[in-house]
Amino acid sequence: MQLPILTMPHPVLTTPCAPVPQVTEDIRRFLQDMVETMHQAGGIGLAAPQVGHSLRCIVMDLGRGLGGGIYCCINPEIVRHAGIQKNPEGCLSIPGRVVTRDRFAKVTLAYTDEHGMARRLKATGLLALCIQHELDHLDGILMTAG
Ligand code: ZN
Repeated sequence: MQLPILTMPHPVLTTPCAPVPQVTEDIRRFLQDMVETMHQAGGIGLAAPQVGHSLRCIVMDLGRGLGGGIYCCINPEIVRHAGIQKNPEGCLSIPGRVVTRDRFAKVTLAYTDEHGMARRLKATGLLALCIQHELDHLDGILMTAG
């Protein structure tokens, strides 16, 4: 089911999200809806507050052949980072705006997947950028210049 994407200045977008206590069937269904919504919108990442749920969940899909497919990440946390990259990024919640700011070049993400399994993902380039952008959403932070 496709969900409506909230845009600024909706207050949910600037509110820090709560951790997901347990991976339930409802959470799995919600993640599927998030993936469908992201694909329909042509985005490469989406965070739960962008569809009105103040929960620590993100989904990402860089597209065929890039970054290894669809990721559904529950309670994600960057546990390692290195280097700096500066690349343009956009946001489905701020249509039409592109900013370039300092981001880590490499990150290691620890998260729980949709099956309740603890996972780690090492990412560079666009996937690393996407992770940092989506994690900011979970803290109620929108992309800004600088
Ligand atoms: Zn965004």
